[in-house]
Amino acid sequence: MLLDDRDALPPERGTAEAVGRFGRPGELVRKLFERDGESPDVEAGIAACIERFLGSARVSSELDYEVLAAHFQGSEIPAGWGTVTPYLERLQGSVLEHSINTSSPSYMGHMTSALPSFMRQLSRLVTALNQNVVKVETAKAFTPYEREAVAMVHRRVFGCDDAFYADHVQDRASTLGMVTSGGTVANLTALWIARNTALGPDGAFPGVERAGLAAALAHRGARRGVVIGSALMHYSLEKGADLLGIGTDALIRVPVDRDGRVRAAEVERTLAACRERGDLVIAMVGVAGTTDTGAIDPLVELAALAREAGIHFHVDAAWAGPTLFSSRHRHKLAGIERADSVTIDGHKQLYLPMGIGMLALREPRAARVIEKQAQYIIRTDSPDLGRRSLEGSRPGVALYLHAALHIIGASGYAWLLDEGIRKAAWMAGRLRACPEFELLAEPQTNIVNYRYVPPLLRDKARQCGLSRDEQAAIGQLNQRLQERQKADGTTFVSRTTLRHTVHGDDLPIVSLRAVLANPLTTEGHIDRMLELQTQIAASLMA
Ligand SMILES: *Cc1c(COP(=O)(O)O)cnc(C)c1O
Repeated sequence: MLLDDRDALPPERGTAEAVGRFGRPGELVRKLFERDGESPDVEAGIAACIERFLGSARVSSELDYEVLAAHFQGSEIPAGWGTVTPYLERLQGSVLEHSINTSSPSYMGHMTSALPSFMRQLSRLVTALNQNVVKVETAKAFTPYEREAVAMVHRRVFGCDDAFYADHVQDRASTLGMVTSGGTVANLTALWIARNTALGPDGAFPGVERAGLAAALAHRGARRGVVIGSALMHYSLEKGADLLGIGTDALIRVPVDRDGRVRAAEVERTLAACRERGDLVIAMVGVAGTTDTGAIDPLVELAALAREAGIHFHVDAAWAGPTLFSSRHRHKLAGIERADSVTIDGHKQLYLPMGIGMLALREPRAARVIEKQAQYIIRTDSPDLGRRSLEGSRPGVALYLHAALHIIGASGYAWLLDEGIRKAAWMAGRLRACPEFELLAEPQTNIVNYRYVPPLLRDKARQCGLSRDEQAAIGQLNQRLQERQKADGTTFVSRTTLRHTVHGDDLPIVSLRAVLANPLTTEGHIDRMLELQTQIAASLMA
């Protein structure tokens, strides 16, 4: 339950009562910084919190969000307690109990899933070291260490030869990629590099970096700069287009087929139309694993079109990039090795803690177009990673990546990825065999899209003969089903709206969406979840 008895807590620092009981504020705060300042109580308290959280059979609490929000109305900063334990007690009741157990095997709705348990220990190390990888003077070994981890990802994506890596892994003039806080910053960085490359210095013209977008486009005689990609591009690319002055209207979304893959012929037509209109194409984006269904664009065709047109080809493989570990499924990403830049999220299918993504760059000098210097740090020709990254101060989270690549390893990741895809295929088979459900898209990777269909409409649904009204009614039922299931709190799948299915093009279909990434999720968990959904649907229709 929500803890609300502030009176039960020790008095705050600075009050006469606190000084009497605990000592002066300065002594208390100083103690917080001492090496052994962390008492065994705190350690035991944290361990108990973790045990309670991860050991819970529930996915989420029953408490309504609005009730929770009403509990967090504070705006005044407390004087301070000077100790951790009372804070932990508050935390347990008001936050931890009402957080989402993303590592539960019955939580199969989003791209956030379980972590290997060693990550919890490693995260203590990252905090204890508190390295700032913006520059060597605050990180030292973490700089070549991060570069090595990035090189391993680069090799998995682009597969260059030994001589290439011998030259570039530690060459400070080269950047094989950058570690970011996530896929959003990686995608933004890719567009930034593409923009600065497409509109670089030219004779006396200093380039977009210095002159700005309007002057750069005018210099090139272009009406506007555009980015071309699938209709299902992630919204982070909109943020990128917005921030870089390209504008979200200039993010051209090309229609997809019924498998959610961009139509390459349409991309080709769009390229020609841009040329005719006098639009400068800054980049082409291929998606490897759409957020909705996990669909992978035809990367070979897109790469060929981009190369022929001489434009930057970015692949957003934030989700499905790690499929490259699977010898059985990596062919689905064929063409990715011809991309100029590739986004991969660490905190999705590399099973790293939240807060790590990366951008891999095929051409080691590509990032020079975004390079910045500062006199006090980040000097010219220094190996400082902050020279060529959007973010400044950054934690040493490459430790998670480097460790996982060694501990889980290539064959471990292959197993993880294969398992998810195998279970998605199993679930798809199950849904096909259950009259209650309709599989809405053949899973290309480990995301399953489906919906519940009420008994009276099942025949019509099978024959694709549902009217618009009937589709809307089924959609409403599935929306309520998903909400009821979420409130029940023992299992979870997410919900999305698909626009291209067997039922038609540009016809919105509400879809339940299962993401099968947790290796501890079994067929039994999936079956029990489907059973619960059937029960909920029956009670909603009653
Ligand atoms: C998750 C995701 C992103 C954004 O990544 P964040 O880590 O959430 O910033 C971008 N593109 C795709 C395809 C994704 O799945």
